Amino acid sequence: MKQFDNVRAHKPEGIEERKAYIVGGGIAGLAAAVFLIDDCYVPGENITIYDQLPVFGGSMDAAKIGEGQYTDRGERELEPYMECLWYLCNKVPSLYTPGRTITEETVDVNKEDRIDAKARLLVNRGQLWEGANKFKMSPKFSRKMMDMIAMPEQKLDGMSIE
Ligand SMILES: Cc1cc2nc3c(=O)[nH]c(=O)nc-3n(C[C@H](O)[C@H](O)[C@H](O)COP(=O)(O)OP(=O)(O)OC[C@H]3O[C@@H](n4cnc5c(N)ncnc54)[C@H](O)[C@@H]3O)c2cc1C
Repeated sequence: MKQFDNVRAHKPEGIEERKAYIVGGGIAGLAAAVFLIDDCYVPGENITIYDQLPVFGGSMDAAKIGEGQYTDRGERELEPYMECLWYLCNKVPSLYTPGRTITEETVDVNKEDRIDAKARLLVNRGQLWEGANKFKMSPKFSRKMMDMIAMPEQKLDGMSIE
């Protein structure tokens, strides 16, 4: 029930003495640590996250690895409907902006430096398509696309995209 969303469980006795060890520093491991701290009252310093790689984040990694060098395994789509992600990010304070959460920081960055997805419309093996600025999908085709996303795989057999 919505009105009980913010009601937390009681602090378990002796929780300050408990330790947690998480293998894997991808979003799943990092989220587990956040919920252990926030929902289960485990002190952050009692949680150890192990990763085989020097950069945390797993498939969502992104880090400065040297002067002018940056690693990022892939672009990320962040959408308002990703409720669990934003719920998680609302719990995490920003490292860089005191008093802001990482949700707020993400919104700030997105306002200051708007992402332009036109570079996805490529022709001739990687050339930016000139018509990209005018490209619009009609409501009819947007609807068809949504239908296709929700379609069971067996029904997609033999279907082509024109
Ligand atoms: C290019 C790309 C684009 C994507 N785009 C999107 C997107 O737009 N939207 C979206 O929702 N999802 C996207 N995804 C998927 C999303 O990134 C993954 O589903 C998510 O990051 C998986 O998180 P995870 O923590 O479960 O696993 P992982 O990110 O795989 O993390 C597992 C971690 O465990 C570590 N590990 C594994 N075994 C061991 C071990 N034995 N000892 C120590 N450490 C170990 C690994 O090094 C890794 O850091 C994309 C993925 C990629 C690769």
